[in-house]
Amino acid sequence: MSQISSASPAFTGHDPGNRLYGPLPDVTGEAGYEADHPARVGFFTDTSVCIGCKACEVACKEWNTLPMDDADGNRDALGLSGMSYDNTGMLGANSWRHVAFVEQSRAVDLPMPGIGLPAAPGQGAGSGGGCGGSCGGESPSHANADGVTVDQASVLNAQALSSFDPQTAQSGDREIRWLMSSDVCKHCTHAGCLDVCPTGALFRTEFGTVVVQDDICNGCGYCVPACPYGVIDQRKGDGRVFKCTMCYDRLTDGLQPACATACPTQSIQFGDLDELQARADARLATLTEQGVKTARLYGRDTDDGVGGAGAFFLLLDEPEVYGLPPDPVVTTRDLPSMWRHAAGAAAMLVGVALSGFLGRRR
Ligand code: SF4
Ligand code: SF4
Ligand code: SF4
Repeated sequence: MSQISSASPAFTGHDPGNRLYGPLPDVTGEAGYEADHPARVGFFTDTSVCIGCKACEVACKEWNTLPMDDADGNRDALGLSGMSYDNTGMLGANSWRHVAFVEQSRAVDLPMPGIGLPAAPGQGAGSGGGCGGSCGGESPSHANADGVTVDQASVLNAQALSSFDPQTAQSGDREIRWLMSSDVCKHCTHAGCLDVCPTGALFRTEFGTVVVQDDICNGCGYCVPACPYGVIDQRKGDGRVFKCTMCYDRLTDGLQPACATACPTQSIQFGDLDELQARADARLATLTEQGVKTARLYGRDTDDGVGGAGAFFLLLDEPEVYGLPPDPVVTTRDLPSMWRHAAGAAAMLVGVALSGFLGRRR
């Protein structure tokens, strides 16, 4: 990610008095809970071990009795994208988890076990080792027919797929990898959706998560553009908004969220946020040591535009590759300065009107 961003204190002139922006050590206490409230909980999603099984999506649908829909939110429609194994498309009112499938024309550089014939002595891990011959090293870049470097290109390598041999599990072209990532509401420290909700339908729970109450939501939709991640969504034919609740009903019963329970690889890890952050830092250090230089944490930084996320990720590429905004900023960040400027303009108008009135009387 870029070092200079719209979320950088140098750019915003970070106002320590602005409670709608910046790090917030005790988000739950800030919301008015007593000092003995539970610890803030969250998700650490380690995409490097996600296998794209979509058990999390199914568990969420099942536990929350979410209706079936297609990628456009049309209810009871069985939508097939025809472009990918990902038919959910995106997060929505009826899909509170979404596993993104990203096919990339790029060598696999993650030291993961693979399938296929074992490597011959002296040949390294290239044959059937699952590392594409570049375990622990730099991903080689290469030029396409137009001379354009395609090292980072997120394109479907149709030629490689067509030469896939199911007997040996070799694709012929090893310059391909799939990234999978289970996306969800970020349960932001500064949640734009919650800040703008006029009815109190959205609220901060005692666990520090953000929940919408469908029996209070009036369907005004203010929260939809206020979310910098495009998560919260209005249900077609209903009008009210829905999103992940981090299984608030399960948390209050001492259970962990359904998606984390169903995940077979522990790609989705649930727990106290500070413990998850320490675990994520250690995992990033391990991957970096193993040569996975593109690994990075997303939503972990409490100095980012939303004060850090309650649900954060370990990614293997730029956030945009996964459909995530690179530099999300809470939409209410500039409210205090907007009000200050509006008050200044109003005072100036009154001053001009007054001087005009007094001038005429003389
Ligand atoms: S602003 Fe968006 S991502 Fe953050 S808590 Fe609200 S719906 Fe979730
Ligand atoms: S925490 Fe619960 S509501 Fe949120 S995505 Fe997981 S299963 Fe769905
Ligand atoms: S996050 Fe876990 S459950 Fe979801 S697709 Fe990945 S491996 Fe499967």
